[in-house]
Amino acid sequence: MNLETKVQFLHGVGPKMAERLEKLGVETLTDLIYDFPRTYLDYTKISKIAEITSNKTQETNSNNQTIKAKVINITNRRTSRRRFTVTEAVVADATGSLKVVWFNQPYLEKMLKAGQEIVLNGKISFDPFSHQLQMESPNRANGPKIVPIYSETVGISSYYIAKLLVNVEAQIANIKEYIPEIIIEKYNLIGIKDAILNLHQPADAETLERAQQRMAFDELFLFSLQKQLSKRDILVHRAAEMIIDETFLRNFAESLPFKLTVAQKKSAWQIIKDLASDKPMNRLLNGDVGSGKTVVAAFAAAVVIKNGYRVALMAPTEILANQHYQTLSDVLRPHGISVGLVTAAENKIKIENKKSKVENPEILVGTHALLHLKDPIENLGMVIIDEQHRFGVNQRNKLLQVKNGLRPHFLSMTATPIPRTMSLVVFADLDVSVIDEMPADRKKVQTEIIEPADRAKSYEFIRREAKKGHLAFVICPLIEEKEIVKENLFEQERKTVTKEYEKLSKEIFPDLKIAMLHGKMKSKEKELIMTDFKAGNYDILVATSVVEVGIDIPNATVMLIEDAERFGLAQLHQFRGRVGRGDKQSYCLLFSSSNSEIAHQRLAFMETISSGFELAEKDLTLRGPGQMYGNEQSGFWDFRFADISDKMMIERATEAAKDVASGIEKYPRLLEKVGEAGKHLE
Ligand code: ADP
Ligand code: MG
Repeated sequence: MNLETKVQFLHGVGPKMAERLEKLGVETLTDLIYDFPRTYLDYTKISKIAEITSNKTQETNSNNQTIKAKVINITNRRTSRRRFTVTEAVVADATGSLKVVWFNQPYLEKMLKAGQEIVLNGKISFDPFSHQLQMESPNRANGPKIVPIYSETVGISSYYIAKLLVNVEAQIANIKEYIPEIIIEKYNLIGIKDAILNLHQPADAETLERAQQRMAFDELFLFSLQKQLSKRDILVHRAAEMIIDETFLRNFAESLPFKLTVAQKKSAWQIIKDLASDKPMNRLLNGDVGSGKTVVAAFAAAVVIKNGYRVALMAPTEILANQHYQTLSDVLRPHGISVGLVTAAENKIKIENKKSKVENPEILVGTHALLHLKDPIENLGMVIIDEQHRFGVNQRNKLLQVKNGLRPHFLSMTATPIPRTMSLVVFADLDVSVIDEMPADRKKVQTEIIEPADRAKSYEFIRREAKKGHLAFVICPLIEEKEIVKENLFEQERKTVTKEYEKLSKEIFPDLKIAMLHGKMKSKEKELIMTDFKAGNYDILVATSVVEVGIDIPNATVMLIEDAERFGLAQLHQFRGRVGRGDKQSYCLLFSSSNSEIAHQRLAFMETISSGFELAEKDLTLRGPGQMYGNEQSGFWDFRFADISDKMMIERATEAAKDVASGIEKYPRLLEKVGEAGKHLE
């Protein structure tokens, strides 16, 4: 037997069980070993019964307790009206006795004998009939220990998996340590074998925590190390060293129709300094929607082009590519710089001004079509990618190929606000410039949580805006009803795009033109609707979160969001950024069907905070990273153990990764592990 052995050869696993295990993703012993418990029941903190019963007046409803006691007596009883079996027992420890009840588990009467000692964990509740405290439907354990709870599937219990793991203990002992000894010592980490063993069979709460910490460290360390290594790989290359013509840059700034913000100037300067070096730039420009990233990119482009090199800018959709193309043409053409747009359709370069036809525009803007040009772009000095997370690493690397010994400088742009600690991990391979300030002329989007009773008023408001030729978005979390799995019977109906579209177009706004947009539509179809909406052919667009982040529709003034509590604050902020892009006062209306006070408080931050970074920071502490950005971007931070708001751990893991990155060849096992961990990051 070894780590690659199929689980079906384990004692107690037949073909049927093997099939069920496969459904859980468990085929080999390694899979089994790395199928860590979902949670734990802690039966180690034993309370004395007298302590529990003396607390009669306390709020006891959600009070979970563990006791170690002897069964005094146990009987089954049937309730008269409903056909229920209630098993009632009295148990006692040295300090007192307590009533225990179970529902519909009649076999317990036979299993638990008077005089037997058991450990019980359950809720303490007040029994209104006997006026006594009782323990309700407790779980049982043989002794005071921490019990792992695994993800279950039909026919596979957590208990069964725990038993299998006892059989593979010897295999866990064969797992080889991959973290270098110096790191283990410096950060006082528990060894990998011990960590894994304790995750499955915790010795005690403290060791379990150390095991979890070790795994969290590993995730962040390996992730960070992978980024460090790719940074190192980039730095073995040279890039074209640009000469900076400051007079030209000042003239360029003067020629813009607006004054640059301080944050724009700072970011532009950081980028320009990178370009002046022969080390390839690898920088991220992170700024809110509308903060003016494109103009900053234009500075960089101008520098590169003035040095005789060309620039490529890739955006995830044609609309965005078009937008960049327009902006760049406006600001760069007056300085004699030619801009071309690569359209996907004919795989052909369209030149912005047909009269002065330029064969080889100095800057090429396009979608992924840029990757499929017949001839490679000659003399490419810099690559800019907007919303990099929408492309694969391979697509990026295709543009960044080394030619004549030179690698193009790389500028990545994103409108997703990423808190500082998080960017330390996620963008460890990049230098980061932040535009944390909006142009001064921008009107704040007026944001309000709307009470359900005021729904009709909001619709009237949208109608008045529509009469002025203004556009409105209505965002729903889901596409259609099929996706809704009710969590309980009383759950409020959730808003779907298809239903809202029906309702709005037939009942509420039969006089207005309404379109719908969601992720199940073909991308061509989506782009067509967006283009039509932008052109003013519709008044209202009902959509899921697929609505493009960076899209500039100056006439859109209303962003109405249904079931707003279901989105992260960073995501809500991105929706909001789709309005208020012109000079008109814009509005963001938040609807919520949730009664939760916490959900309401969270939404209230939207009313007072207008910085995406601040909102992201709030959400990171309130809800954790998983729910902040929605599905589209979740892949970045899918850590199983690591908490990406844990600054201390992030700093330690990042520091450790930096320590070993330069001498990684000394640690072949670690290198191999980084490779494995890296595979699912691509
Ligand atoms: P984003 O950061 O979302 O990509 P853009 O670069 O598309 O933002 O800029 C949004 C709009 O703001 C554009 O029309 C741009 O010309 C304008 N803009 C950029 N910088 C400024 C500024 N400092 N003052 C006023 N308007 C600006
Ligand atoms: Mg943009």
